[in-house]
Amino acid sequence: MDSPFDDYRFHFDELLKIFEISLEYVSYRPKVIASGVSSFEAIRPENFVLLLNMLERMGLQINTQRFVEILLPTFVARSKTIFSSAELEFFWYTKYRYKTDDIILFSDKPLLSTEPIDAFKISNGFILSLYKNDENQETLMLRIRAPKYRKRPQIRRVVCDDCGFECQKGDPESSFLHRKEHKRRLSWLKPDPLPIMLLELQKDRIEAEHVSFISSCWKHKEMYNRALAFKREFHNNFVQWSHNGKEDIDAHGFLFTGDKGEIVGACAFRNRTKDGQHQRWGLLWIWFCPNERRNGHLAKRWRMLRLRF
Ligand SMILES: [Zn+2]
Repeated sequence: MDSPFDDYRFHFDELLKIFEISLEYVSYRPKVIASGVSSFEAIRPENFVLLLNMLERMGLQINTQRFVEILLPTFVARSKTIFSSAELEFFWYTKYRYKTDDIILFSDKPLLSTEPIDAFKISNGFILSLYKNDENQETLMLRIRAPKYRKRPQIRRVVCDDCGFECQKGDPESSFLHRKEHKRRLSWLKPDPLPIMLLELQKDRIEAEHVSFISSCWKHKEMYNRALAFKREFHNNFVQWSHNGKEDIDAHGFLFTGDKGEIVGACAFRNRTKDGQHQRWGLLWIWFCPNERRNGHLAKRWRMLRLRF
């Protein structure tokens, strides 16, 4: 960035733009009596390391490791949970150095062949492949391959038939998230009887299934999960049951139970009475787990629901 090295053809800020790095203005702490400051252009440390990393990935002989080692200690702390994309780059840096994917630079002219005309290894082990339309023409595409590049297994997006979770096959983190979510989602997609519900059902079936602001927290949680399932299935924008339903006096829900006392579905009503009108209720949603649809659960309760709402 030093001006003596500035070339009129080279604009540093344009180079930064390619890597989506922005320059910021900083200043020294103003004196108490000062009413103005001098500002300087600066790059955040993590963005500076990102820039070095990107140039290194393009085959330039740069030692980014040194700067990563300076910054990394601030990232190892577990308390840091949110990462910017630049920070993520160097969190992975040591693990993936020289193993990253190809970098491909294009010209805007059309390339007719997909076979490289020439390829050579540079001293740090990077392999450059040149793509031209024929031997004597200018290079239209350049592929830069890292020294330890290995073709990684193709990552495919797959949707789990049981829980509907969309995950990336071949990616360990994604499989981990899926296993966790799978178990959670099956609790309403393929429900087992809940002991606490079985106890309530012994007293009064209709009251056990009814959920209002005075109901226990576990019932609101069960309602919320079904509202969430409904939202997912119909791609709505929001979940129509509050996590903390205990504060909502206008909402009434029903948790429908099957023969074994398992919760097979739910529905929610909301008081739609406006001032000066007579009592009016709206049915917001009804959801049943896939295996229990068209099994007469709603028909059995329809009369009761109509009378009540
Ligand atoms: Zn699943």
